[in-house]
Amino acid sequence: MTATEQSQTLVGIGVGRGIAIGRVLRMPDPLPEPATTPSTIGPDSERDRVTAALQATGADIRERGERAGGKAQEVLEAQALMADDPTLRSEIDTRIDNGATAERAVHEAFGGFRDMLVGLGGYMAERAADLDDVAQRIIARLSGVAAPGVPESDEPFVLVARDLAPADTALLDLDKVLALVTSDGGPTSHTAILAREKSITAVVGVVGARELVDGTDVVVNAGSGEVVVAPSADDVARAEQARAAQLNRASVPIGPGQLADGTAVPLLANLGSTDGIEGALAAGAEGVGLFRTEFLFLDAGSSAPTVAAQYAHYSKLLRGFSGKKVVVRALDAGADKPLPFLNDAHEENPALGLRGLRALRAAEQILRDQLTALARAASESDADLWVMAPMVSTVEETRYFVSLARELGIKTAGVMVEVPSSALLADRVLGEADFASIGTNDLTQYTLAADRMLGSVSSFQDPWHPAVLRLVGEVGRAGSAHGKSVGICGEAAADPLLAVVLVGLGATTLSMSPSAIADVRAELRQHTREQAVQLAQAALRADDARGARDAVNSLVAELASS
Ligand code: PEP
Ligand code: MG
Repeated sequence: MTATEQSQTLVGIGVGRGIAIGRVLRMPDPLPEPATTPSTIGPDSERDRVTAALQATGADIRERGERAGGKAQEVLEAQALMADDPTLRSEIDTRIDNGATAERAVHEAFGGFRDMLVGLGGYMAERAADLDDVAQRIIARLSGVAAPGVPESDEPFVLVARDLAPADTALLDLDKVLALVTSDGGPTSHTAILAREKSITAVVGVVGARELVDGTDVVVNAGSGEVVVAPSADDVARAEQARAAQLNRASVPIGPGQLADGTAVPLLANLGSTDGIEGALAAGAEGVGLFRTEFLFLDAGSSAPTVAAQYAHYSKLLRGFSGKKVVVRALDAGADKPLPFLNDAHEENPALGLRGLRALRAAEQILRDQLTALARAASESDADLWVMAPMVSTVEETRYFVSLARELGIKTAGVMVEVPSSALLADRVLGEADFASIGTNDLTQYTLAADRMLGSVSSFQDPWHPAVLRLVGEVGRAGSAHGKSVGICGEAAADPLLAVVLVGLGATTLSMSPSAIADVRAELRQHTREQAVQLAQAALRADDARGARDAVNSLVAELASS
Protein backbone atom coordinates (compact mmCIF):
# COMPACT_ATOMS: atom_id res chain seq x y z
CA MET A 1 0.00 0.00 0.00
CA THR A 2 1.66 3.24 -1.03
CA ALA A 3 0.74 6.70 0.18
CA THR A 4 2.13 8.23 -2.99
CA GLU A 5 -0.44 6.66 -5.30
CA GLN A 6 -3.44 8.87 -6.01
CA SER A 7 -6.47 7.35 -4.33
CA GLN A 8 -9.80 7.32 -6.11
CA THR A 9 -13.29 6.78 -4.71
CA LEU A 10 -15.88 4.66 -6.50
CA VAL A 11 -19.49 4.82 -5.41
CA GLY A 12 -22.25 2.18 -5.34
CA ILE A 13 -24.99 0.90 -3.05
CA GLY A 14 -23.72 -0.34 0.30
CA VAL A 15 -25.25 -3.39 1.91
CA GLY A 16 -25.06 -3.15 5.70
CA ARG A 17 -22.45 -1.13 7.56
CA GLY A 18 -19.27 -3.18 7.31
CA ILE A 19 -15.83 -1.78 6.55
CA ALA A 20 -13.10 -3.92 4.98
CA ILE A 21 -9.54 -3.28 3.89
CA GLY A 22 -7.86 -5.64 1.44
CA ARG A 23 -6.65 -6.58 -2.03
CA VAL A 24 -8.80 -7.06 -5.10
CA LEU A 25 -9.27 -10.47 -6.63
CA ARG A 26 -11.51 -10.53 -9.69
CA MET A 27 -13.97 -13.16 -10.79
CA PRO A 28 -13.01 -14.21 -14.31
CA ASP A 29 -15.16 -12.61 -16.99
CA PRO A 30 -17.84 -14.64 -18.77
CA LEU A 31 -16.99 -16.93 -21.69
CA PRO A 32 -17.04 -15.36 -25.16
CA GLU A 33 -20.24 -15.72 -27.16
CA PRO A 34 -20.22 -19.03 -29.13
CA ALA A 35 -19.64 -18.58 -32.88
CA THR A 36 -22.54 -18.73 -35.32
CA THR A 37 -20.70 -21.11 -37.70
CA PRO A 38 -22.91 -24.12 -38.49
CA SER A 39 -22.39 -27.54 -36.94
CA THR A 40 -20.01 -29.90 -38.73
CA ILE A 41 -21.11 -33.04 -36.88
CA GLY A 42 -24.88 -32.97 -37.52
CA PRO A 43 -27.96 -32.59 -35.31
CA ASP A 44 -27.94 -36.07 -33.77
CA SER A 45 -24.44 -35.73 -32.39
CA GLU A 46 -25.07 -32.17 -31.24
CA ARG A 47 -28.21 -33.31 -29.39
CA ASP A 48 -26.25 -36.07 -27.64
CA ARG A 49 -23.63 -33.56 -26.57
CA VAL A 50 -26.35 -31.29 -25.16
CA THR A 51 -28.02 -34.13 -23.27
CA ALA A 52 -24.75 -35.06 -21.62
CA ALA A 53 -23.85 -31.45 -20.81
CA LEU A 54 -27.28 -30.65 -19.35
CA GLN A 55 -27.24 -33.73 -17.16
CA ALA A 56 -23.71 -33.15 -15.93
CA THR A 57 -24.35 -29.46 -15.24
CA GLY A 58 -27.59 -30.15 -13.35
CA ALA A 59 -25.84 -32.81 -11.27
CA ASP A 60 -22.91 -30.50 -10.59
CA ILE A 61 -25.16 -27.66 -9.42
CA ARG A 62 -27.18 -30.03 -7.19
CA GLU A 63 -23.99 -31.36 -5.69
CA ARG A 64 -22.85 -27.81 -4.89
CA GLY A 65 -26.25 -27.24 -3.28
CA GLU A 66 -25.88 -30.28 -1.08
CA ARG A 67 -22.45 -29.12 0.00
CA ALA A 68 -23.71 -25.60 0.76
CA GLY A 69 -27.01 -26.57 2.49
CA GLY A 70 -29.58 -24.06 3.80
CA LYS A 71 -30.96 -21.30 1.65
CA ALA A 72 -28.15 -21.67 -0.91
CA GLN A 73 -29.31 -25.22 -1.55
CA GLU A 74 -32.84 -24.03 -2.37
CA VAL A 75 -31.49 -21.44 -4.78
CA LEU A 76 -29.17 -23.95 -6.44
CA GLU A 77 -31.94 -26.53 -6.72
CA ALA A 78 -33.98 -23.91 -8.59
CA GLN A 79 -30.99 -23.37 -10.88
CA ALA A 80 -30.55 -27.11 -11.46
CA LEU A 81 -34.19 -27.22 -12.57
CA MET A 82 -33.35 -24.71 -15.29
CA ALA A 83 -30.92 -27.26 -16.74
CA ASP A 84 -33.77 -29.84 -16.79
CA ASP A 85 -36.40 -27.49 -18.18
CA PRO A 86 -38.26 -29.15 -21.10
CA THR A 87 -39.23 -25.84 -22.75
CA LEU A 88 -35.63 -24.69 -22.83
CA ARG A 89 -34.59 -28.10 -24.15
CA SER A 90 -37.05 -27.91 -27.00
CA GLU A 91 -35.79 -24.38 -27.84
CA ILE A 92 -32.26 -25.79 -27.94
CA ASP A 93 -33.31 -28.73 -30.16
CA THR A 94 -35.08 -26.46 -32.62
CA ARG A 95 -31.88 -24.49 -33.12
CA ILE A 96 -29.79 -27.64 -33.48
CA ASP A 97 -32.23 -28.96 -36.08
CA ASN A 98 -31.65 -25.71 -37.97
CA GLY A 99 -27.92 -26.43 -38.07
CA ALA A 100 -26.57 -24.68 -34.96
CA THR A 101 -23.79 -26.10 -32.81
CA ALA A 102 -24.77 -27.24 -29.31
CA GLU A 103 -22.89 -24.26 -27.79
CA ARG A 104 -24.67 -21.74 -30.00
CA ALA A 105 -28.09 -23.36 -29.49
CA VAL A 106 -27.70 -23.26 -25.68
CA HIS A 107 -26.51 -19.67 -25.83
CA GLU A 108 -29.50 -18.54 -27.93
CA ALA A 109 -32.17 -20.56 -26.12
CA PHE A 110 -31.07 -19.38 -22.66
CA GLY A 111 -30.58 -15.86 -24.00
CA GLY A 112 -34.21 -15.79 -25.20
CA PHE A 113 -35.49 -16.73 -21.76
CA ARG A 114 -33.14 -14.31 -20.14
CA ASP A 115 -34.51 -11.43 -22.25
CA MET A 116 -38.02 -12.42 -21.31
CA LEU A 117 -37.17 -12.27 -17.60
CA VAL A 118 -35.50 -8.91 -18.01
CA GLY A 119 -38.64 -7.71 -19.82
CA LEU A 120 -40.76 -8.72 -16.84
CA GLY A 121 -38.62 -6.42 -14.68
CA GLY A 122 -38.18 -6.36 -10.92
CA TYR A 123 -37.48 -9.54 -9.00
CA MET A 124 -37.75 -11.60 -12.21
CA ALA A 125 -35.14 -9.49 -13.97
CA GLU A 126 -32.69 -10.06 -11.15
CA ARG A 127 -33.09 -13.82 -11.66
CA ALA A 128 -31.64 -13.34 -15.17
CA ALA A 129 -28.18 -13.73 -13.65
CA ASP A 130 -29.18 -17.27 -12.57
CA LEU A 131 -30.06 -18.25 -16.14
CA ASP A 132 -26.86 -16.70 -17.49
CA ASP A 133 -24.87 -18.65 -14.98
CA VAL A 134 -26.46 -21.99 -15.88
CA ALA A 135 -25.93 -21.27 -19.60
CA GLN A 136 -22.26 -20.44 -18.99
CA ARG A 137 -21.74 -23.66 -17.09
CA ILE A 138 -23.34 -25.75 -19.85
CA ILE A 139 -21.35 -23.99 -22.60
CA ALA A 140 -18.12 -24.37 -20.62
CA ARG A 141 -18.78 -28.09 -20.30
CA LEU A 142 -19.56 -28.39 -24.03
CA SER A 143 -16.38 -26.51 -24.94
CA GLY A 144 -14.23 -28.40 -22.45
CA VAL A 145 -13.13 -25.28 -20.59
CA ALA A 146 -13.45 -24.38 -16.91
CA ALA A 147 -16.69 -22.59 -15.98
CA PRO A 148 -16.06 -19.05 -14.81
CA GLY A 149 -16.30 -19.16 -11.07
CA VAL A 150 -14.99 -18.08 -7.71
CA PRO A 151 -11.21 -17.58 -7.81
CA GLU A 152 -9.02 -19.39 -5.31
CA SER A 153 -6.54 -17.69 -3.03
CA ASP A 154 -4.61 -18.53 0.10
CA GLU A 155 -4.87 -14.94 1.28
CA PRO A 156 -8.08 -13.11 2.25
CA PHE A 157 -9.35 -10.90 -0.61
CA VAL A 158 -11.96 -8.39 -1.74
CA LEU A 159 -13.94 -10.19 -4.42
CA VAL A 160 -14.78 -8.00 -7.41
CA ALA A 161 -17.34 -9.35 -9.89
CA ARG A 162 -20.05 -8.27 -12.27
CA ASP A 163 -22.68 -9.92 -10.08
CA LEU A 164 -22.44 -13.18 -8.22
CA ALA A 165 -24.65 -16.07 -9.27
CA PRO A 166 -26.03 -18.44 -6.62
CA ALA A 167 -23.64 -21.19 -7.70
CA ASP A 168 -20.74 -18.85 -6.93
CA THR A 169 -22.07 -17.57 -3.66
CA ALA A 170 -22.66 -21.11 -2.43
CA LEU A 171 -19.01 -21.91 -3.01
CA LEU A 172 -17.48 -18.81 -1.49
CA ASP A 173 -15.07 -19.50 1.30
CA LEU A 174 -16.40 -16.83 3.60
CA ASP A 175 -13.27 -16.92 5.76
CA LYS A 176 -11.31 -15.61 2.79
CA VAL A 177 -13.77 -13.01 1.48
CA LEU A 178 -13.21 -9.66 3.18
CA ALA A 179 -15.83 -7.87 1.08
CA LEU A 180 -17.82 -8.08 -2.13
CA VAL A 181 -17.81 -5.37 -4.79
CA THR A 182 -19.97 -5.74 -7.90
CA SER A 183 -20.41 -3.57 -10.96
CA ASP A 184 -23.94 -4.83 -11.68
CA GLY A 185 -26.82 -5.80 -9.45
CA GLY A 186 -29.15 -3.80 -7.28
CA PRO A 187 -30.12 -4.00 -3.63
CA THR A 188 -32.10 -7.22 -4.21
CA SER A 189 -29.47 -9.03 -6.31
CA HIS A 190 -28.08 -12.33 -5.09
CA THR A 191 -24.90 -10.62 -4.00
CA ALA A 192 -26.87 -8.24 -1.79
CA ILE A 193 -29.05 -11.02 -0.38
CA LEU A 194 -26.01 -13.14 0.42
CA ALA A 195 -24.16 -10.22 1.96
CA ARG A 196 -27.10 -9.36 4.18
CA GLU A 197 -27.69 -12.94 5.23
CA LYS A 198 -24.05 -13.64 6.07
CA SER A 199 -23.16 -10.12 7.26
CA ILE A 200 -20.49 -9.69 4.57
CA THR A 201 -19.35 -6.16 3.79
CA ALA A 202 -20.61 -5.37 0.29
CA VAL A 203 -21.06 -2.51 -2.15
CA VAL A 204 -23.08 -3.39 -5.27
CA GLY A 205 -23.72 -1.53 -8.53
CA VAL A 206 -20.33 0.22 -8.30
CA VAL A 207 -19.63 2.40 -11.31
CA GLY A 208 -16.01 1.77 -12.36
CA ALA A 209 -15.69 -1.61 -10.61
CA ARG A 210 -14.99 -3.26 -13.97
CA GLU A 211 -11.68 -1.39 -14.18
CA LEU A 212 -10.40 -2.72 -10.85
CA VAL A 213 -7.45 -5.06 -11.35
CA ASP A 214 -6.14 -7.94 -9.25
CA GLY A 215 -3.88 -6.95 -6.39
CA THR A 216 -5.14 -3.35 -6.06
CA ASP A 217 -5.57 -2.20 -2.45
CA VAL A 218 -9.06 -1.00 -1.58
CA VAL A 219 -11.08 0.17 1.40
CA VAL A 220 -14.71 -0.96 1.11
CA ASN A 221 -17.17 1.01 3.22
CA ALA A 222 -20.71 -0.34 2.97
CA GLY A 223 -22.08 2.39 5.25
CA SER A 224 -21.13 5.12 2.81
CA GLY A 225 -21.38 2.92 -0.30
CA GLU A 226 -17.79 3.79 -1.20
CA VAL A 227 -14.80 1.87 -2.47
CA VAL A 228 -11.55 3.78 -2.03
CA VAL A 229 -9.02 2.56 -4.60
CA ALA A 230 -5.31 2.79 -3.72
CA PRO A 231 -6.10 4.38 -0.33
CA SER A 232 -3.59 6.64 1.38
CA ALA A 233 -2.11 5.68 4.76
CA ASP A 234 -4.57 8.14 6.30
CA ASP A 235 -7.53 6.52 4.53
CA VAL A 236 -6.46 3.14 5.88
CA ALA A 237 -5.95 4.45 9.42
CA ARG A 238 -9.41 6.05 9.39
CA ALA A 239 -10.99 2.85 8.11
CA GLU A 240 -9.24 0.81 10.78
CA GLN A 241 -10.47 3.18 13.45
CA ALA A 242 -14.03 3.06 12.17
CA ARG A 243 -13.90 -0.72 12.06
CA ALA A 244 -12.67 -0.92 15.64
CA ALA A 245 -15.47 1.41 16.76
CA GLN A 246 -17.95 -0.79 14.95
CA LEU A 247 -16.72 -3.94 16.67
CA ASN A 248 -17.01 -2.11 19.97
CA ARG A 249 -20.59 -1.15 19.26
CA ALA A 250 -21.55 -4.69 18.33
CA SER A 251 -20.59 -5.73 21.84
CA VAL A 252 -23.31 -3.56 23.48
CA PRO A 253 -25.41 -6.07 25.47
CA ILE A 254 -28.77 -7.06 24.02
CA GLY A 255 -31.58 -4.99 25.49
CA PRO A 256 -34.45 -2.76 24.42
CA GLY A 257 -33.79 0.05 21.95
CA GLN A 258 -33.39 3.38 23.69
CA LEU A 259 -31.68 6.75 23.38
CA ALA A 260 -29.00 7.96 25.79
CA ASP A 261 -31.68 9.73 27.87
CA GLY A 262 -33.76 6.56 28.17
CA THR A 263 -36.34 7.45 25.47
CA ALA A 264 -37.63 4.07 24.27
CA VAL A 265 -37.26 3.33 20.55
CA PRO A 266 -38.42 -0.29 20.10
CA LEU A 267 -36.25 -2.25 17.67
CA LEU A 268 -38.32 -4.60 15.55
CA ALA A 269 -37.48 -7.18 12.90
CA ASN A 270 -38.27 -7.26 9.19
CA LEU A 271 -39.12 -10.84 8.28
CA GLY A 272 -40.15 -12.56 5.06
CA SER A 273 -40.97 -15.96 6.49
CA THR A 274 -41.32 -17.76 9.78
CA ASP A 275 -37.81 -19.21 9.27
CA GLY A 276 -36.37 -15.97 10.59
CA ILE A 277 -38.15 -16.02 13.99
CA GLU A 278 -35.33 -17.58 15.96
CA GLY A 279 -32.65 -15.30 14.52
CA ALA A 280 -34.77 -12.21 15.20
CA LEU A 281 -35.32 -13.17 18.82
CA ALA A 282 -31.64 -13.99 19.25
CA ALA A 283 -30.77 -10.51 17.97
CA GLY A 284 -33.07 -9.03 20.60
CA ALA A 285 -35.93 -7.96 18.29
CA GLU A 286 -38.74 -6.56 20.43
CA GLY A 287 -41.32 -7.76 17.92
CA VAL A 288 -41.87 -7.66 14.17
CA GLY A 289 -42.19 -4.32 12.41
CA LEU A 290 -42.70 -5.70 8.91
CA PHE A 291 -43.76 -9.21 8.01
CA ARG A 292 -43.65 -9.39 4.23
CA THR A 293 -46.35 -11.84 3.13
CA GLU A 294 -45.34 -11.92 -0.55
CA PHE A 295 -43.13 -14.99 -0.16
CA LEU A 296 -46.04 -17.00 1.22
CA PHE A 297 -48.01 -16.07 -1.88
CA LEU A 298 -45.07 -16.54 -4.26
CA ASP A 299 -44.45 -20.02 -2.87
CA ALA A 300 -48.13 -20.93 -3.31
CA GLY A 301 -47.69 -20.98 -7.11
CA SER A 302 -50.38 -19.97 -9.57
CA SER A 303 -53.18 -19.18 -7.10
CA ALA A 304 -53.42 -17.49 -3.70
CA PRO A 305 -52.89 -19.71 -0.64
CA THR A 306 -56.10 -20.79 1.10
CA VAL A 307 -57.38 -19.13 4.28
CA ALA A 308 -56.48 -22.33 6.17
CA ALA A 309 -52.91 -22.34 4.85
CA GLN A 310 -52.48 -18.66 5.66
CA TYR A 311 -53.99 -19.11 9.12
CA ALA A 312 -51.46 -21.86 9.90
CA HIS A 313 -48.59 -19.66 8.74
CA TYR A 314 -49.68 -16.54 10.65
CA SER A 315 -50.38 -18.60 13.79
CA LYS A 316 -46.82 -19.88 13.71
CA LEU A 317 -45.52 -16.32 13.39
CA LEU A 318 -47.65 -15.03 16.26
CA ARG A 319 -46.68 -17.97 18.47
CA GLY A 320 -43.05 -17.09 17.89
CA PHE A 321 -43.62 -13.55 19.17
CA SER A 322 -45.99 -14.31 22.02
CA GLY A 323 -46.65 -11.18 24.11
CA LYS A 324 -44.98 -8.94 21.51
CA LYS A 325 -46.10 -6.64 18.74
CA VAL A 326 -46.26 -8.12 15.23
CA VAL A 327 -46.93 -5.88 12.23
CA VAL A 328 -48.03 -7.85 9.17
CA ARG A 329 -48.24 -6.22 5.78
CA ALA A 330 -51.08 -7.21 3.49
CA LEU A 331 -49.84 -8.69 0.22
CA ASP A 332 -47.70 -6.21 -1.69
CA ALA A 333 -47.79 -7.52 -5.25
CA GLY A 334 -46.71 -5.73 -8.40
CA ALA A 335 -43.63 -3.92 -9.71
CA ASP A 336 -40.61 -5.61 -8.08
CA LYS A 337 -42.85 -8.40 -6.68
CA PRO A 338 -45.05 -9.62 -9.58
CA LEU A 339 -47.63 -12.34 -8.84
CA PRO A 340 -49.33 -14.02 -11.80
CA PHE A 341 -52.79 -14.22 -10.23
CA LEU A 342 -52.84 -10.55 -9.24
CA ASN A 343 -51.02 -8.65 -11.95
CA ASP A 344 -50.94 -10.40 -15.27
CA ALA A 345 -51.41 -7.35 -17.49
CA HIS A 346 -48.30 -5.81 -19.03
CA GLU A 347 -47.62 -2.32 -17.69
CA GLU A 348 -45.05 0.09 -19.12
CA ASN A 349 -44.25 1.41 -15.64
CA PRO A 350 -45.24 -1.26 -13.13
CA ALA A 351 -43.94 0.74 -10.15
CA LEU A 352 -46.57 3.33 -11.06
CA GLY A 353 -49.21 0.74 -11.86
CA LEU A 354 -51.69 -1.58 -10.24
CA ARG A 355 -49.61 -2.62 -7.25
CA GLY A 356 -49.89 -2.86 -3.48
CA LEU A 357 -53.31 -1.93 -2.13
CA ARG A 358 -54.47 -0.95 -5.63
CA ALA A 359 -53.98 -4.53 -6.85
CA LEU A 360 -55.64 -5.97 -3.74
CA ARG A 361 -58.63 -3.74 -4.18
CA ALA A 362 -59.04 -4.98 -7.74
CA ALA A 363 -59.07 -8.55 -6.38
CA GLU A 364 -60.77 -7.87 -3.05
CA GLN A 365 -61.45 -11.50 -2.19
CA ILE A 366 -57.72 -12.10 -1.86
CA LEU A 367 -57.48 -9.24 0.63
CA ARG A 368 -60.58 -10.42 2.50
CA ASP A 369 -59.16 -13.93 2.79
CA GLN A 370 -55.86 -12.65 4.07
CA LEU A 371 -57.44 -10.38 6.69
CA THR A 372 -59.77 -13.20 7.75
CA ALA A 373 -56.85 -15.60 8.24
CA LEU A 374 -54.93 -12.95 10.17
CA ALA A 375 -57.86 -12.07 12.45
CA ARG A 376 -58.46 -15.76 13.18
CA ALA A 377 -54.79 -16.33 14.05
CA ALA A 378 -54.74 -13.22 16.26
CA SER A 379 -57.87 -14.23 18.17
CA GLU A 380 -56.06 -17.33 19.42
CA SER A 381 -52.77 -15.63 20.23
CA ASP A 382 -51.49 -13.27 22.89
CA ALA A 383 -49.24 -11.49 20.40
CA ASP A 384 -50.39 -7.97 19.53
CA LEU A 385 -51.23 -8.12 15.80
CA TRP A 386 -51.17 -4.94 13.74
CA VAL A 387 -51.97 -5.11 10.02
CA MET A 388 -50.99 -2.53 7.41
CA ALA A 389 -51.69 -1.92 3.75
CA PRO A 390 -48.85 -1.36 1.27
CA MET A 391 -48.59 1.49 -1.25
CA VAL A 392 -51.42 3.61 0.10
CA SER A 393 -51.57 6.89 -1.78
CA THR A 394 -54.81 8.58 -0.72
CA VAL A 395 -56.91 9.28 2.39
CA GLU A 396 -59.79 7.44 0.74
CA GLU A 397 -57.66 4.31 0.33
CA THR A 398 -56.74 4.57 4.01
CA ARG A 399 -60.41 4.72 4.96
CA TYR A 400 -61.19 1.77 2.69
CA PHE A 401 -58.48 -0.44 4.18
CA VAL A 402 -59.11 0.45 7.80
CA SER A 403 -62.85 -0.13 7.54
CA LEU A 404 -62.44 -3.46 5.71
CA ALA A 405 -59.83 -4.62 8.24
CA ARG A 406 -62.15 -3.71 11.15
CA GLU A 407 -65.10 -5.43 9.47
CA LEU A 408 -63.03 -8.61 9.29
CA GLY A 409 -61.89 -8.49 12.92
CA ILE A 410 -58.49 -6.77 12.79
CA LYS A 411 -58.08 -4.59 15.90
CA THR A 412 -55.18 -2.37 14.80
CA ALA A 413 -55.11 -1.31 11.15
CA GLY A 414 -52.60 1.07 9.61
CA VAL A 415 -50.92 2.08 6.38
CA MET A 416 -47.47 2.13 4.91
CA VAL A 417 -46.29 5.54 3.85
CA GLU A 418 -44.34 4.83 0.67
CA VAL A 419 -45.79 7.41 -1.70
CA PRO A 420 -45.11 11.14 -1.22
CA SER A 421 -48.85 11.94 -1.38
CA SER A 422 -49.45 9.95 1.81
CA ALA A 423 -46.57 11.66 3.59
CA LEU A 424 -47.77 15.11 2.53
CA LEU A 425 -51.30 14.35 3.80
CA ALA A 426 -50.08 12.35 6.82
CA ASP A 427 -52.15 14.49 9.22
CA ARG A 428 -55.30 13.30 7.45
CA VAL A 429 -54.09 9.76 6.79
CA LEU A 430 -53.33 9.36 10.49
CA GLY A 431 -56.77 10.76 11.29
CA GLU A 432 -58.08 7.50 9.77
CA ALA A 433 -55.37 4.92 10.40
CA ASP A 434 -54.28 3.51 13.77
CA PHE A 435 -50.61 3.83 12.82
CA ALA A 436 -48.23 4.53 9.97
CA SER A 437 -45.08 2.73 8.95
CA ILE A 438 -42.76 4.44 6.50
CA GLY A 439 -41.33 2.28 3.72
CA THR A 440 -38.27 4.34 2.91
CA ASN A 441 -37.25 2.11 -0.01
CA ASP A 442 -40.31 2.98 -2.04
CA LEU A 443 -40.66 6.46 -0.56
CA THR A 444 -37.15 7.24 -1.85
CA GLN A 445 -37.88 5.69 -5.24
CA TYR A 446 -41.02 7.81 -5.69
CA THR A 447 -39.61 11.01 -4.23
CA LEU A 448 -36.50 10.97 -6.43
CA ALA A 449 -38.28 9.36 -9.41
CA ALA A 450 -35.56 6.68 -9.53
CA ASP A 451 -36.50 3.04 -10.12
CA ARG A 452 -35.12 1.14 -7.13
CA MET A 453 -34.23 -1.84 -9.32
CA LEU A 454 -32.16 0.14 -11.81
CA GLY A 455 -28.41 0.28 -11.29
CA SER A 456 -28.06 3.29 -13.59
CA VAL A 457 -30.04 5.54 -11.22
CA SER A 458 -28.98 3.91 -7.96
CA SER A 459 -27.19 7.06 -6.83
CA PHE A 460 -30.62 8.72 -6.53
CA GLN A 461 -31.93 5.89 -4.37
CA ASP A 462 -30.54 7.35 -1.18
CA PRO A 463 -32.85 7.82 1.83
CA TRP A 464 -30.47 10.42 3.28
CA HIS A 465 -31.83 12.84 0.68
CA PRO A 466 -33.32 15.83 2.52
CA ALA A 467 -36.46 15.64 0.35
CA VAL A 468 -37.12 12.14 1.71
CA LEU A 469 -36.28 13.26 5.24
CA ARG A 470 -38.64 16.21 4.98
CA LEU A 471 -41.46 13.81 4.09
CA VAL A 472 -40.54 11.57 7.03
CA GLY A 473 -40.71 14.70 9.22
CA GLU A 474 -44.27 15.36 7.98
CA VAL A 475 -45.35 11.90 9.05
CA GLY A 476 -43.51 12.20 12.39
CA ARG A 477 -45.29 15.48 13.14
CA ALA A 478 -48.68 14.02 12.24
CA GLY A 479 -47.99 10.96 14.39
CA SER A 480 -47.15 13.05 17.40
CA ALA A 481 -50.19 15.33 16.89
CA HIS A 482 -52.49 12.29 16.78
CA GLY A 483 -50.57 10.36 19.44
CA LYS A 484 -50.05 7.49 16.97
CA SER A 485 -47.10 5.25 16.25
CA VAL A 486 -44.87 6.07 13.27
CA GLY A 487 -42.53 3.22 12.41
CA ILE A 488 -39.77 3.00 9.85
CA CYS A 489 -39.49 -0.33 8.05
CA GLY A 490 -37.38 0.44 4.98
CA GLU A 491 -33.65 -0.18 4.72
CA ALA A 492 -33.02 3.33 6.10
CA ALA A 493 -33.77 2.10 9.63
CA ALA A 494 -30.80 -0.29 9.34
CA ASP A 495 -28.31 2.55 8.83
CA PRO A 496 -27.36 3.40 12.45
CA LEU A 497 -26.77 7.12 12.08
CA LEU A 498 -29.72 7.61 9.77
CA ALA A 499 -31.82 5.70 12.31
CA VAL A 500 -30.99 8.41 14.89
CA VAL A 501 -31.95 11.11 12.38
CA LEU A 502 -35.26 9.34 11.70
CA VAL A 503 -36.00 9.27 15.43
CA GLY A 504 -35.20 12.99 15.49
CA LEU A 505 -37.81 13.42 12.76
CA GLY A 506 -40.48 11.71 14.86
CA ALA A 507 -40.15 7.97 14.17
CA THR A 508 -41.25 6.03 17.25
CA THR A 509 -40.12 2.51 16.26
CA LEU A 510 -37.48 1.12 13.87
CA SER A 511 -37.74 -2.15 11.99
CA MET A 512 -34.88 -3.78 10.11
CA SER A 513 -33.29 -7.05 9.14
CA PRO A 514 -32.21 -8.72 12.41
CA SER A 515 -28.52 -8.57 11.49
CA ALA A 516 -28.68 -4.76 11.67
CA ILE A 517 -30.23 -4.52 15.14
CA ALA A 518 -27.00 -4.62 17.20
CA ASP A 519 -25.42 -1.68 15.35
CA VAL A 520 -28.56 0.45 15.52
CA ARG A 521 -29.08 -0.35 19.21
CA ALA A 522 -25.52 0.77 19.97
CA GLU A 523 -25.80 3.99 17.97
CA LEU A 524 -29.14 5.03 19.53
CA ARG A 525 -27.59 4.81 23.00
CA GLN A 526 -25.04 7.44 22.13
CA HIS A 527 -27.50 10.28 21.44
CA THR A 528 -30.17 12.01 23.50
CA ARG A 529 -33.55 12.89 22.07
CA GLU A 530 -32.51 16.55 21.88
CA GLN A 531 -29.36 15.62 19.95
CA ALA A 532 -31.36 13.40 17.58
CA VAL A 533 -33.56 16.40 16.78
CA GLN A 534 -30.46 18.57 16.20
CA LEU A 535 -28.99 15.95 13.88
CA ALA A 536 -32.26 15.75 11.96
CA GLN A 537 -32.28 19.50 11.52
CA ALA A 538 -28.72 19.47 10.23
CA ALA A 539 -29.67 16.80 7.66
CA LEU A 540 -32.74 18.75 6.56
CA ARG A 541 -30.62 21.86 5.91
CA ALA A 542 -28.43 20.02 3.37
CA ASP A 543 -28.90 20.22 -0.39
CA ASP A 544 -28.48 16.56 -1.13
CA ALA A 545 -27.94 13.12 0.39
CA ARG A 546 -24.16 13.40 0.59
CA GLY A 547 -24.44 16.83 2.17
CA ALA A 548 -26.90 15.49 4.75
CA ARG A 549 -24.62 12.59 5.64
CA ASP A 550 -21.59 14.87 5.93
CA ALA A 551 -23.46 17.44 8.03
CA VAL A 552 -24.68 14.80 10.44
CA ASN A 553 -21.26 13.16 10.73
CA SER A 554 -19.64 16.53 11.47
CA LEU A 555 -22.24 17.42 14.07
CA VAL A 556 -21.82 14.04 15.76
CA ALA A 557 -18.05 14.67 15.99
CA GLU A 558 -18.70 18.18 17.33
CA LEU A 559 -21.20 16.99 19.95
CA ALA A 560 -18.84 14.24 21.04
CA SER A 561 -15.96 16.66 21.60
CA SER A 562 -17.99 19.35 23.37
C1 PEP B 1 -40.21 -0.12 1.57
O1 PEP B 1 -40.65 0.17 0.46
O2 PEP B 1 -39.42 0.59 2.22
C2 PEP B 1 -40.61 -1.40 2.20
C3 PEP B 1 -40.29 -1.65 3.44
O3 PEP B 1 -41.28 -2.28 1.44
P1 PEP B 1 -40.58 -3.20 0.32
O4 PEP B 1 -39.10 -2.99 0.41
O5 PEP B 1 -41.00 -4.60 0.62
O6 PEP B 1 -41.19 -2.66 -0.93
MG1 MG C 1 -42.32 -0.95 -0.36
